[in-house]
Amino acid sequence: MANNEPGFSTLAVHAGAQPDPTTGARATPIYQTTSFVFEDADHAASLFGLKAFGNIYTRIMNPTQAVLEERVAALEGGTAALATASGHGAQLIIFHTIMRPGDNFIAANKLYGGSINQFGQAFQSFDWQVRWADPANIEEIESQIDDRTRAVFIESLANPGGTFVDIAAIAEVAHKHGLPLIVDNTMASPYLVRPIEHGADIVVHSLTKFIGGHGNSMGGIIVDGGTFDWSNSGNYPMLSEPRPEYGGMVLHETFGNFAFAIACRVLGLRDLGPAIAPFNAFLLLTGAETLPLRMQRHCDNALEAARWLNAHDKVAWVSYSGLEEDDNHALMQQYSPKGAGAVFTFGLAGGYEAGVKFVESLEIFSHLANIGDTKSLVIHPASTTHRQLSPEQQTAAGAGPDVVRLSIGIEDIADIIGDLEQALAKV
Ligand SMILES: *Cc1c(COP(=O)(O)O)cnc(C)c1O
Repeated sequence: MANNEPGFSTLAVHAGAQPDPTTGARATPIYQTTSFVFEDADHAASLFGLKAFGNIYTRIMNPTQAVLEERVAALEGGTAALATASGHGAQLIIFHTIMRPGDNFIAANKLYGGSINQFGQAFQSFDWQVRWADPANIEEIESQIDDRTRAVFIESLANPGGTFVDIAAIAEVAHKHGLPLIVDNTMASPYLVRPIEHGADIVVHSLTKFIGGHGNSMGGIIVDGGTFDWSNSGNYPMLSEPRPEYGGMVLHETFGNFAFAIACRVLGLRDLGPAIAPFNAFLLLTGAETLPLRMQRHCDNALEAARWLNAHDKVAWVSYSGLEEDDNHALMQQYSPKGAGAVFTFGLAGGYEAGVKFVESLEIFSHLANIGDTKSLVIHPASTTHRQLSPEQQTAAGAGPDVVRLSIGIEDIADIIGDLEQALAKV
């Protein structure tokens, strides 16, 4: 074996997996079982007491899930990971682990519409308060931090506008106030951006998008960066106080730099329940193997499509940080030199009506609410993903009424541009 740390593409294919020790199967088997037999009563007791690590019940842990977790932790450069049934399930477990009723967190106002709903609406029932801030405005983030703030949450590449965020600058202000930085890295994927290298403490993904990549399975994952000192302040009691059900164990003392991932599993997933199905873990793992190839093709196709649209006289504007003239281009080159991702927005000179006509005229592009599929996708955010938001929130999130969002697939670029061309001709 070479001594060097394997490269990203090698990790994407191999990290966390070995030929099956029992059967020799080369692909990771789908362990389609709810539960696992104990060796004896002592073994069972030590598993339940967290004295030994092993499988008990698929809600908490499963060998197919475990390979997916190791794979994504390696791709992100984290210490451990926890896979969940969806990206939203992952976010719920993260905040359940760090928030008490009455606590608050700062979140970027440029986020996936579903996250804006989850934070602004569902989390209200738990009395977890969200404070929105422009991720490009460090003072606005800092001025909202108080003694009940427990975290800062951003997207590395913000959905739907496709803008990169200065992760290192935000990490610095979060750490100055003793707070972890949580980064949703769904849109960039670790092929483009590895947030932990820029100061993030926790990375979260919707695996549903680029890591799975084929639009066939839901999944989420939490990656523990292993960087945050959970015992420093007493503000994170799940990690820093004795757990009666585990014999008074203090998770951060026992598990050190992967305590956050453990807490998310043995408290969050155990009690809240959004476990990923083994079959979905298998499909997402298969997708992860080709992430580097797919992501580069997504980026190359998106850049060509954005350039072509930008030169079209029915197009009012294109917002894609891969374009040299884009306001976000310098940050893109700093954080994501291999490309600017698959997703971008543009506005048609004809406004809302033209946008609807355009979306309905496309043939290769599918009109649906998803991103990160091998297939090219299109949506009109103001009437779909972002419709629950007020007009002000829509515009702040880059999803105003004239905006069309594209997620460029891995088809031949000539066919992608041909489809855009025929649809624009009908507008
Ligand atoms: C889709 C998405 C989510 C939510 O993930 P689900 O798997 O749909 O629950 C969160 N963040 C971003 C950026 C997303 O695109």
